[in-house]
Amino acid sequence: MKKTTVLALILFNGFAVLAQTKEEQTIKEIYKSSLTNSKCYAWLDDLSNKIGSRLSGSAGAEKAVLYTKAQLETLGLDRVYLQEVMVPKWVRGEKEMAYIQDNKTKITVPICALGGSIATAKTGLTAEVIEVHSIKELSELGIDKIKGKIVFFDRPMNNEEIESFHAYSGAGDQRNIGAGEAAKFGAVGTIVRSLNLRLDDFPHTGAQSYGAIPKSQYIPTAAISTNGAELLSKTLKKNPNLKFYFKQSCETMEDVLSYNVVGEIKGSEHPENIMVVGGHLDSWDLADGSHDDGAGVVQSMEVLNIFKNLGYKPKNTIRVVLFMNEENGLRGGKKYEELSLLNKENHIFALESDSGGFSPRGFSLECDDANFNKISSYKSAFEPYLIHSFVKGHSGSDIGPLTSKLIVKAGLKPDSQRYFDYHHAANDKFDAINKRELQLGAATMASLMYLMDQNGIVK
Ligand SMILES: [Zn+2]
Repeated sequence: MKKTTVLALILFNGFAVLAQTKEEQTIKEIYKSSLTNSKCYAWLDDLSNKIGSRLSGSAGAEKAVLYTKAQLETLGLDRVYLQEVMVPKWVRGEKEMAYIQDNKTKITVPICALGGSIATAKTGLTAEVIEVHSIKELSELGIDKIKGKIVFFDRPMNNEEIESFHAYSGAGDQRNIGAGEAAKFGAVGTIVRSLNLRLDDFPHTGAQSYGAIPKSQYIPTAAISTNGAELLSKTLKKNPNLKFYFKQSCETMEDVLSYNVVGEIKGSEHPENIMVVGGHLDSWDLADGSHDDGAGVVQSMEVLNIFKNLGYKPKNTIRVVLFMNEENGLRGGKKYEELSLLNKENHIFALESDSGGFSPRGFSLECDDANFNKISSYKSAFEPYLIHSFVKGHSGSDIGPLTSKLIVKAGLKPDSQRYFDYHHAANDKFDAINKRELQLGAATMASLMYLMDQNGIVK
């Protein structure tokens, strides 16, 4: 009796060791393929330097749809297709301008309109400024102190946060809803400190919403560079009656037709089970969006390229989805889920890369404890590649709407320390991308896709 148990254990361990070795071997090949034979960096070069910025509804976004579809068609996938989706179209217009009027001195500062903002009058807007550090402070000051002024939201991202995304979300409300809230107290405009941890001269744009206030109460809102914010704050302390001038001519147009780009390898055992890997094809308009989210797009495409290069035949259907309109509407993610429900599709896993093309560190997982423990047990296979961080948390915005009952969602977690130097700003360009870091990220994603395909999810 005892002998049998011991023998069984050895055999079991024997199988376990063998299985692990095969997986480790495949992962090694995945990294090798990505570092020596990948297309992701060249794809990103094209997306960034030949096509450029890709704000929803722009010519760049449409070119990116055609380009990525054509590139996926060269990979020998089982199916490549487009999904129609209506997207918002907001255009920046002429380059914005702004200055601080300190008595007789005019000091020019860099600003950019926030996405979805209305324009100022053609001649611009001049008003006194009131500096605040939170939405709550608006009601403490009240209408008497705010009416007729420009509200200057100046709460910095918290430098004490190790994970820079936490610092970002901690300061995000000022940009996201600040204008709509300030308008309720009679503000005539808002200027928001850029969501950037360092001090520099780049204003960072991003989506904002006026919430439920009537359109007639909308006020223009813009981001100011962190250096500009420091200067405005310092000058205000010396001269509380200074005036701020800014001019912007942005406009929201009619919705336009655009597309999600989809490519897939049919599963050999369970074609009905779908595993998605993706990023978002749209970017902000100030630069090429090489980190946000050109990197995620080409890494997701590379996952399928790696599988093809290695001759790997997945058990489940592996689908790359390049979502449109994450930045200012999430229409692509919502449309994908709508069509998935309509077609009664069954998604078991989704992985998104939308945190920049930096050195991969791990994954952020949205799933129950059983699946979290199972995925965490893969850690040792990733250790040789310096991947160590398996945490529970937000996976990705575009895969957020997916509602399949038994779905595990994951986000690639790259090192986040430099991300907000570039995020939504004019310096988010191809030269900010390191080729090897980008490739390592693609390999890390392909490795997790492979392990999930082999071992499935806990039901
Ligand atoms: Zn993004």
